[in-house]
Amino acid sequence: MNRIAALVWPVLLLATSQVTAAVSDGALEEAARAADAQVIEWRRDIHQHPELGNREFRTAQKVAEHLRSLGLEVKTGVAHTGVVGILRGGRPGPAIALRADMDALPVTEQVDLPFKSVATAEYRGETVGVMHACGHDAHTAILMGAAQVLAGLRKDLPGTVLFVFQPAEEGPPDGERGGAVLMLEQGIFEAVKPEAMFGLHVSASLATGTIGVRTGPMMAASDSYRIVIRGRQSHGARPWAGVDPIVVAAQVVMGMQTIVSRQTDITRYPAVLSVGAIKGGIRSNIIPDEVELVGTLRTFDPAVRQQIIERMTRTAVDIAHSAGATATVEIGPQPIPVLVNDEALAARVRPSLERVAGAGRIVQIPYLTSTEDFAFYAQRVPSLFFNVGVTPAGVDPAQVAGVHSPLFKLDEAALPIGLRAMLAVAVDYLQGTRR
Ligand SMILES: [Zn+2]
Ligand SMILES: [Zn+2]
Repeated sequence: MNRIAALVWPVLLLATSQVTAAVSDGALEEAARAADAQVIEWRRDIHQHPELGNREFRTAQKVAEHLRSLGLEVKTGVAHTGVVGILRGGRPGPAIALRADMDALPVTEQVDLPFKSVATAEYRGETVGVMHACGHDAHTAILMGAAQVLAGLRKDLPGTVLFVFQPAEEGPPDGERGGAVLMLEQGIFEAVKPEAMFGLHVSASLATGTIGVRTGPMMAASDSYRIVIRGRQSHGARPWAGVDPIVVAAQVVMGMQTIVSRQTDITRYPAVLSVGAIKGGIRSNIIPDEVELVGTLRTFDPAVRQQIIERMTRTAVDIAHSAGATATVEIGPQPIPVLVNDEALAARVRPSLERVAGAGRIVQIPYLTSTEDFAFYAQRVPSLFFNVGVTPAGVDPAQVAGVHSPLFKLDEAALPIGLRAMLAVAVDYLQGTRR
C-alpha cells in the first residue's frame, strides 16, 4: 500500500463502518464465545503433550492442521518447527501479524491436574521432565482460537492477518539456532509485510481479568558474557612465585558491582549485572593458571548496554593488569535485544484492551528483567507485547509460583480474556477503529 492510501484507509473505514459490513463488537463476541471451550480444550491437550524448543513436532502439526481446516495459506517447517498462516480478509486493508510461541521447558511438573504433563525428553544428555511452565500452551491455544474466529469473519474483515506460531522462544538446544530471529531470517515477512504486530504472555504477577502493558522498553536485553583471567600457576604455599587469578577474579567480581551502582544512571533505565559461575582450580594447594567467570547482563537501552560492556571490559582488564594477570571479556553468543513496545501503537490499541478487560483493569507493569524473543519482531515492525493476568481472584500474586516453576498453574478463566484481547487489538487495528 502506498503512503497516501495508508493514511486514507482508516478514515474511509471509519466513515463507512456504520453502513457496510464491518466486524461488529457483537459478531466478534459471539464468535469468540463459540471458540472459548475449544481454546481450553486445545490448551489442555498441548499442556499434556509439551515439547522442547525446535522439537515442537506434535504441536506444530496440530496448529498446521487447524489452520488448513480454516482455509488459511499455511507454511510449515519454518525455523525448524514453526508454522505461519495467512488469512486474507474479504475487504482491502492493512496487514498485521499475531504471534504465539509453542515451546515448553525442561521442568518436571508438580501441579496435580487431570492433564498434568508426564512427558520426558533428552536435554543436554539427560532425561528431563518437560512442562509448559511458561504458559506457551495457553498462547498457542489462544492464537488457534483467534485464527478460527477471524477466519469465520473473513468476509467482513479488512486486510490480512499473519499468524506466527514460533518455536524455541526459550532458546534453541545447544549447537542449534532457532526462535524469532530464525523465523525472520527465513523470510516470514516476505509474503506479507505486517505494519503492526501483537503478542501476549500470561503473567502470574497479575490477577485474572487484568492486562499488563508497558510502553517503550518493557523486557530486558540479555547478554551472556565470559571473562577469562589468566595468571601463572604456582604452589599454594608460594603465591609470589606465580600470578594468582583467583584473587583477581574476586576483585573483578567486586569491581563489577560498582558498574551499575556507581557508574550507570539508574534514574533512566535499570540494569542488572550478575555473575552466575566461577570456575578455576582443582586442589587446595595449587594456585591455577586461569579462572573463568560467566554471567548475564540485562539492560533496557542500547547505549546503556554498550556503556556497561565497555566498563566491564575496562574493569576486568585493568584489575587483571594491576596484578600482572590478563583478562579477556567475550559477550554472547545469542544476545537478545530489549523488547520495545511502540508508543503510538500502544496508545492506539489501549481502548481495545480496555474494552476487553474493563476500565481500570489495564495495569502499567514495571520493567521486566527477563527476556522475550518477540523483541526481534519488534525491531522490524511497530509492535505491542502485553501480559494477561492468570492468578485467580482472591489469591495474592506475590505468593504464587511464577513462570518456569514446576508449580506454575494458570487460571483457565484468563484464556477467554487473552482470546478477546488478541481479537480486539487485531480487529480494531484492521478496521482503523479509534474508540
Ligand atoms: Zn519462559
Ligand atoms: Zn514465555
